[in-house]
Amino acid sequence: MTKELVDKELLKIIACPICRNELKVSGNSLKCTNKKCGETYPVKEGIPILLPPELRKELM
Ligand SMILES: [Zn+2]
Repeated sequence: MTKELVDKELLKIIACPICRNELKVSGNSLKCTNKKCGETYPVKEGIPILLPPELRKELM
């Protein structure tokens, strides 16, 4: 039994906070599908942390 990192329906509605492109699951994180952006976002207990890197550092 495999558990999805992020709910599929949630994945459909969220977007990269920097460039607004779709995100895809990449290992234990989400990765922006825009090659020019390519930002990755951590997922904590199924909740994607969609913050730009500079803000994330302050919170984590
Ligand atoms: Zn992006």
